[in-house]
Parts: sequence; C-alpha cells; structure tokens
Amino acid sequence: MKILVVNAGSSSLKYQLINMNNEEIMAKGLCERIGIEGSQLKHEPKDKDSVVIAEPMKNHTDAIRLVISALVDKNHGVINGMDEIAAVGHRVVHGGEAFNASAIINEDVMKAIEACIDLAPLHNPPAISGIEACKEAMPSVPMVAVFDTAFHQTMPKQAYFYALPYELYEKYKIRRYGFHGTSHKYVAERAAKLLGKPIEELKIITCHLGNGSSITAVKNGKSIDTSMGFTPLAGVVMGTRSGDIDPAIVKFIMEKENLSAKEVDGLLNKKSGVLGLSSVSSDFRDIFTAANDGNDKAKLALDVFAYSVKKYIGEYAAVMGGVDAIVFTAGVGENSVQVRGMIVDDLEFMGIKIDEEKNGIRGKEIDISTADAKVRTLVIPTNEELMIALDTRKLVEKA
Ligand code: ADP
Repeated sequence: MKILVVNAGSSSLKYQLINMNNEEIMAKGLCERIGIEGSQLKHEPKDKDSVVIAEPMKNHTDAIRLVISALVDKNHGVINGMDEIAAVGHRVVHGGEAFNASAIINEDVMKAIEACIDLAPLHNPPAISGIEACKEAMPSVPMVAVFDTAFHQTMPKQAYFYALPYELYEKYKIRRYGFHGTSHKYVAERAAKLLGKPIEELKIITCHLGNGSSITAVKNGKSIDTSMGFTPLAGVVMGTRSGDIDPAIVKFIMEKENLSAKEVDGLLNKKSGVLGLSSVSSDFRDIFTAANDGNDKAKLALDVFAYSVKKYIGEYAAVMGGVDAIVFTAGVGENSVQVRGMIVDDLEFMGIKIDEEKNGIRGKEIDISTADAKVRTLVIPTNEELMIALDTRKLVEKA
C-alpha cells in the first residue's frame, strides 16, 4: 500500500509518498512560493536524481497537480499512475475539541476543520486548501486528517483550563490545546518499544525541541499535560518565540513602545526566543558558535532556553508522580549534544544521568543514560510523516 502524506502551509506544500510495505519513502518534495512569483517544486525521488521544477503555482490545486505529474513522470517519477496511491494523509494543525484522533475526511469532518479556523487562522486554511486540491485531483481516493492537537485531547481539565473567567472558555473555547501531538505520540510509542515495556505502564516526558519546541507528560500512553497552550507560543523558550511570560508584559510593551496588539503578537512570535535574547540567530548552531566565541548574550539565550526545559521536566515528573524516561527529539533535541547535556545537568537526584560518550552518537534511536541511571534518557528521531501514514492506513483499512 502506498500512501501520500501532505503537509500544506500558507505558501508551501510538503509531501512524501511512503510505501507502507517497508515504510520506505519513495519520493518526497516541497512546493514553495505558492501564489507568489517564482514558485517551484523540489522533487526528490528515491534512487533517482532530484529535480527542481520552476512553474507558476497560483494555488494549492496547481501545486498538487504538479506533485502528481512529478510522481508519475517518466524520468523522475516513482509510480506508473495515480491509481497506485491507496490513500492520502493530511496534516491538520488544529482539531479543536472535535478530534481526539485522526479521522477519515468526509463532509462533517471538513465542517469541523473549518470551525477551527478561528483557533488557527494561519494554519487551518492552507490545510483545507490542500485537502480540497487533493479531492479534486483524486476524487475516489480516501483521505485522512491527522491533527497536531488530537493526542493532547486526553489532558484532564485541571491541565487544560486557564484560570480566566469561565465564560471565555464557553464563548471562545479558550483553553490549552497543545501541539506537535503527532511527534510526541510517535516518540513516546517508540520509547516504549525501545524500553521493551507496554506504554500503558510508563511515565514518559517527551521533549520536542526544534524551531518550535514543546514538552509533554505522557502517562500510560496518554498526554496528560503539554507545554504549548491555546497557541504554539506558550511553554518553553523557542527559536523566535518567547514561550511563557508574565501576561502583563503585553500591555506594558504596547503602551511603552506604542505597538498594536498584532504588533506585540508578532514580536512575541517572531522576534523573541533565543533570537531575541541573543540578537544572533534562531538557529541553535549559530548561537553555540557565537557563545563559544565569547558572546555573552548567546550564552544567556542558551542558559534561559535549557533552564525553561529543565523546569518542565521537574513539573511533569511531579504531575505524573515520577518518570521512567525522558525523550529528546526534533532538530535540536536529536542533534545537539550540548543542549541535552545542559538540560539534564544536575538532575541526578531524580535518577537522570547521561553517558557522555553515548550522548555524542547522532542520527539514530539510542539510550544515552548511564547503566546505573534509574530514569532512561533516550534520543529518538521523530517521524511525523510516517505517523500520519500509519494512522491513515489504520483508518482506511478499517473503513
Ligand atoms: P521545525 O520546528 O521547523 O520542524 P526542526 O525540528 O527541523 O524544526 O529543527 C530545526 C532546528 O534544529 C534548527 O533551527 C537548528 O537550531 C536545530 N539544529 C539542527 N542541527 C543542529 C545541531 N547539530 N546542533 C544544534 N542545533 C541543531
């Protein structure tokens, strides 16, 4: 069975065609600058040369058409015809309270995704366009929506309610939703496999540290709390996002800097985090280079970032009544030996201790704890596309 995974952004569309018999990526690619001048598709077929196809794409329908023609192309294609694609899995950022799992796309599901536009105005509209474009191009192929928020729908009320007037929840559904759910679920399940124990018996803290970062407490296989909130701005310090701050700072900055609400939102989302603190970059590699060259602000940014993650580890160990494993994943979590070292430094009292040598190994699933550590520290490369494809297969086979 071959499954196409589609991740549509406002001006981009990423895809992977996965052969589910061996979980191999047959081709992947990225359409960029959709609706903007200079649009192009980069298509990377397995065992063949990559191609860049520069062609105007005025919307997501054009992008999907181009993806399809690349997939079946005589030279750089990987399948003979679209009938080889059994199903399409779509990444959808926000499922609100309507979805606690992935869903086969039908009219009701589309309506529910549309109803969540208010909660994710930048993310859900392109996902809807991506789904509609695929429906037009492949009307008889079943499609599945996989939500970033779904995994966190198991959080108990005390974890997802904010102490705001209750009517704001009733009127606008203001509450914690959490994001990166597909990644947290994938690495938690892999962690259980790696530890050789049923996930239902484990307390795992998953640290997805990339450009955007979030930490999740996974108890007995369920998300019971997560650091991102109503939006992906909350939680730990990120590349360009502030993470948790005193909410009173918003009004203070608006008044002092004469900024509108939208401008402060932009400042917190795009100009803060380690970029804002260091003035160097949002990329952790650049910040480490600067810190090693003696840049004090870069060092401060790293310290504030690592400290914010460490605090969540303590918090989640407390709410779960202990922890069996810590998992590091995503760009920073998978690759940065230093970041992992800084975060778990001094956590020996909790039973967390990593082996320097193992911590230096990259690019594969590995237990980096010392033999005597009570809590296992694992590095697990995330694979959101595979998780989307697995969920898609499961639902399509059941239907
Ligand atoms: P996204 O959240 O956009 O999916 P990724 O998970 O791909 O991001 O993470 C991207 C980030 O990973 C980059 O901004 C960079 O800071 C970080 N990164 C990648 N490799 C390394 C490395 N070797 N050391 C430190 N950070 C790294």
